Amino acid sequence: MEATLGIHVDEPTAFSPLRGRFQVEGSLKKNEQNFKLAGVRRDIEKLYEAVPQLGNVFKIKDKIGEGTFSSVYLATAQLHTGPEEKIALKHLIPTSHPIRIAAELQCLTVAGGQDNVMGVKYCFRKNDHVVIAMPYLEHESFMDILNSLSFQEVREYMFNLFKALKRIHQFGIVHRDVKPSNFLYNRCLKKYALVDFGLAQGTHDTKIELLKFVQSEAQQESFSQNKTHIITGNKISLSGQAPKALNQQPTTKSSVKRPYTNAQIQVKQGRDGKEESVGLSVQRSVFGERNFNIHSSISHESPAVKLMKHSKTVDVLSRKLATKKKAISTKVINSGVVRKSASSCPANLTCDCYATDKVCSICLSRRQQVAPRAGTPGFRAPEVLTKCPNQTTAIDMWSAGVIFLSLLSGRYPFYKASDDLTALAQIMTIRGSRETIQAAKTFGKSILCSKEVPAQDLRKLCERLRGIDSETPKLTSDMQEPASHNPTFSEKIDHKASHLIHTPQTQLSGNSLHKENSKGCFDEHTTNLEDWDEVPDDAYDLLDKLLDLNPASRITAEEALLHPFFKDMSL
Ligand code: ADP
Ligand code: MG
Repeated sequence: MEATLGIHVDEPTAFSPLRGRFQVEGSLKKNEQNFKLAGVRRDIEKLYEAVPQLGNVFKIKDKIGEGTFSSVYLATAQLHTGPEEKIALKHLIPTSHPIRIAAELQCLTVAGGQDNVMGVKYCFRKNDHVVIAMPYLEHESFMDILNSLSFQEVREYMFNLFKALKRIHQFGIVHRDVKPSNFLYNRCLKKYALVDFGLAQGTHDTKIELLKFVQSEAQQESFSQNKTHIITGNKISLSGQAPKALNQQPTTKSSVKRPYTNAQIQVKQGRDGKEESVGLSVQRSVFGERNFNIHSSISHESPAVKLMKHSKTVDVLSRKLATKKKAISTKVINSGVVRKSASSCPANLTCDCYATDKVCSICLSRRQQVAPRAGTPGFRAPEVLTKCPNQTTAIDMWSAGVIFLSLLSGRYPFYKASDDLTALAQIMTIRGSRETIQAAKTFGKSILCSKEVPAQDLRKLCERLRGIDSETPKLTSDMQEPASHNPTFSEKIDHKASHLIHTPQTQLSGNSLHKENSKGCFDEHTTNLEDWDEVPDDAYDLLDKLLDLNPASRITAEEALLHPFFKDMSL
């Protein structure tokens, strides 16, 4: 079919200009595909060259993931007698710091391999190239399945995510990048795996030795400013159950010359940008520059937010925002209430420029406040967005809450913002400005907000977005109709994307969704979309506890598993 389209590109049919356009598009797509394929083949060749021992064990078939810091490949191997095994090979970029790489590996070897945490089989190194070999878990794209998941599946998904989080938190690992692309889900096999410890950090009592040496990007920025490089990274020993090193080389990279700081600063930049390039489906976020029409379906405007800083760093964007909306800027004065998690965030804010859009000399002379900010903006907790230096495993629970919010509302990504203060403003429109400001005080942060926005009722919000509230015609029953015949909810929110939300349902026959996945695994997901009519209050209670603005009182993974929402489920 595509070949035919390609051949006719230069001879568009006179009577069908549309067809001609499709032919050109088809041909362009084909060229693009060929180009990509050639690129993947080249990358595979390069990997064999960089780490030749891989060729003795694996047949590398395809590239399945690519970010700024790693490329992931699907390979097969005849590791034991029996059928070929599928393996995921994660090739870390050679500029990653050895400690960072070793820490990622140690998280997988020590905490992984059970309770939905990805394990590791082998690790290979040649010079500065490191490849982690993991069991391969075929998985769905979150965006593709979001609107065909039954409520029961959502319950199982969240339960299994908490199981993984409980496991890593017990080891004192803060994942820092919990999001759907790092929690693999195989719908067919009902298997789950938390992956990607590339940004993980340790709690003060972490059991992952190497995480004690991993510093946050902000700490490193501060080190870099002081011209101090205290970690050489030449000697690393793995404790716990180490993977079999097939090449007999240690998993360290003494050859890496790049400073630790540069590598880590890249982490932030890459992670931030990466998410946007994943997948071809159109995103249906609730917030975000590209989706203001969706935004308007939530009846509150985003407030402009300004974080009163202790540091000399001036957030230009927030200042611009505050300047623009000066007339409606609200001044919020820090009461100085500092609770348990806030001990390291002193609330000494009195100076000449307080609540103005200037930075006075007192503020300019303040010590820069450093706090980790890595992760994906839409999933960052308020304490991360406000740069609270004292961050705990609670930040992963917030991210899990954002995933749950997507699952209940049918919108992904839910929050999409280009900077932290916009992200904070988006959180305020859901959780309330007063509540956010109040919570921030508990961890020593003072926020200026241009206007007051009330907290939203989570059930009403999710039902409205999903189109199952009493005032909005149901999306589920109207799915078969083309978008133009259903000018109610979907048009109001995002006309362009509305057909996409309909796509999975057009395959519905009765209540069963028949789907053949890419690997020919013919599944019959009995997708009961009607169970969305009976979402219990427990679901929204759990969501509320996950999206607790105060990290000190936010629900833990262990507590979440015991929440009534999961009452009939066992570990
Ligand atoms: P990065 O640090 O580049 O984000 P990840 O570890 O998150 O790397 O892997 C990137 C992608 O590769 C994942 O989102 C997933 O799609 C795929 N992937 C990673 N590990 C596996 C695995 N063990 N099995 C199957 N796919 C995997
Ligand atoms: Mg990842």
